[in-house]
Amino acid sequence: MEQPTPKLLLATGNPGKARELAELLRGVPFEMVSLRDLNLPTEIDEPADTFEGNAIIKAESYARMSGLLTLADDSGLEIDALNGQPGVHSKRFAGEDATDEGRVQIVLQRLEDVPREQRTARYRCVLAIARPDGDTVTCEGICSGIIGHEVRGSGGFGYDPVFYLPEFDKTVAELSLEEKNQISHRARAAKQAVELLKGLTNS
Ligand code: IMP
Repeated sequence: MEQPTPKLLLATGNPGKARELAELLRGVPFEMVSLRDLNLPTEIDEPADTFEGNAIIKAESYARMSGLLTLADDSGLEIDALNGQPGVHSKRFAGEDATDEGRVQIVLQRLEDVPREQRTARYRCVLAIARPDGDTVTCEGICSGIIGHEVRGSGGFGYDPVFYLPEFDKTVAELSLEEKNQISHRARAAKQAVELLKGLTNS
């Protein structure tokens, strides 16, 4: 008898991440379900001080709640001139209710007097895959760039309009989804996650 396709919970409430991950994980032998499909909360506490710690907390919490294999993303922006800030606080950098635009403006203000050569930064993404029995693996990807002096582009999400990639002479917000998914921190982590997920169905 044919086995039903196993389910994978994509545990993010961030529509930008969800859009990218849906493409990046295309082809894995799982049926994707969302937090919304299961009526689960889209936000939970992220008390750890590392991306890895928070990705594990999210993946394991949602795996327990759903009883499903679960993939969670914790990611953010590290700016060298700000000693790695906003880092794990990337979402709440401008306050609880801030918008992406508000966060971008705070970054531009904080870097107002910082010259181009000191505006280096990187995006970091950790994906955690948790089984309901508590077995969890993680993978990480980074994408390096420079914080621009102005907002450019309307694609992507979060800090993308000020995250400038010298090799493309574009901000990430000026890339198409396909282009971002070739080079992003999330794409690099997802490449490893795809292999891990394929391995899980063979075990
Ligand atoms: P998290 O939900 O705690 O992982 O928050 C991640 C935050 O980091 C997002 O809300 C964005 O502000 C930022 N971030 C993560 N990945 C990206 C990206 O690909 N582009 C732009 N901003 C990102």
